Amino acid sequence: MSRPVEAVIDFLKSEQAKGKTHVYLDEEARDGLRELFIRARQPAATTEQPSQEATAAPASATAAPARAPVSVPAVVDLKVEGTDKASKLESIRQQAANWQPVKSLGSLRETMVFATGSPDARIMLIGEAPGYNEEKEAEPFVGPAGKKLNDILKAMGISREKVYISNLVKFRPSMPRQTTNNRKPSSEEMAACLPLVMAEISVVKPELIIVLGGTAAEGLLGLEGKIGAMRGKWHELSGIPARVTYHPSYLLQSGGSNDVKRALWEDMLAAMEKLGMPISEKQRSFFLPKS
Ligand code: URA
Repeated sequence: MSRPVEAVIDFLKSEQAKGKTHVYLDEEARDGLRELFIRARQPAATTEQPSQEATAAPASATAAPARAPVSVPAVVDLKVEGTDKASKLESIRQQAANWQPVKSLGSLRETMVFATGSPDARIMLIGEAPGYNEEKEAEPFVGPAGKKLNDILKAMGISREKVYISNLVKFRPSMPRQTTNNRKPSSEEMAACLPLVMAEISVVKPELIIVLGGTAAEGLLGLEGKIGAMRGKWHELSGIPARVTYHPSYLLQSGGSNDVKRALWEDMLAAMEKLGMPISEKQRSFFLPKS
């Protein structure tokens, strides 16, 4: 690891030891971190022992299409107060309602949709942003995608109340002349909300996280590309195993393709295995082609 990276890690650890969950980064510091992140993602040879080609070529030419995740947000101090998980989450919820990085963007709607479920959950599921139905009920995943999510949880033998369900973005992305139509959150909107969901993760401390859809995977894990390449393996988010899988609404849109259903189900089986949950033969065979 290079010395600047170690220095940053030491600094962040000392801030964490003082109870801080976030630090303020000015524009220059953010650029520096982005640079470090991009360098860290390149093969060691180009950072530690630069090869002839690597030193001769301009940085833009040597860099793989690595991309800093939006996890270098314009951080505002978020103080998590409270003595138990529920009161700490309430403290985050109250700060989220007036979250300046969101307000200053001006591209998200007014009604906050925070989270639902158990603060003691072993599983945390994170989607991208609320839509029309979620805004109306001020609860994540209550529309058709939410119903599909409930079905998935039921097939796993878990009720919605037992898990913690949240979104990366806490407000419905706005559009001109918007009625029931929704749009994906932008990278800036995801970056603005990232400290909130990271604070939720640090309070709930789930045993595993399920990231629903490619947009949330991009915003939370800095992943790019096709969801097919992101899913099927374990990632890590804040030291917690994280599984990316298809968004339930993709299941609805894909006309219920069996391949997509099975792929999502395999991610859920992996989650159940990780938690040591019992899995019946019937559960193991869901969505397998009939022989
Ligand atoms: N899609 C999401 O990502 N989140 C919701 O809450 C609803 C739909």
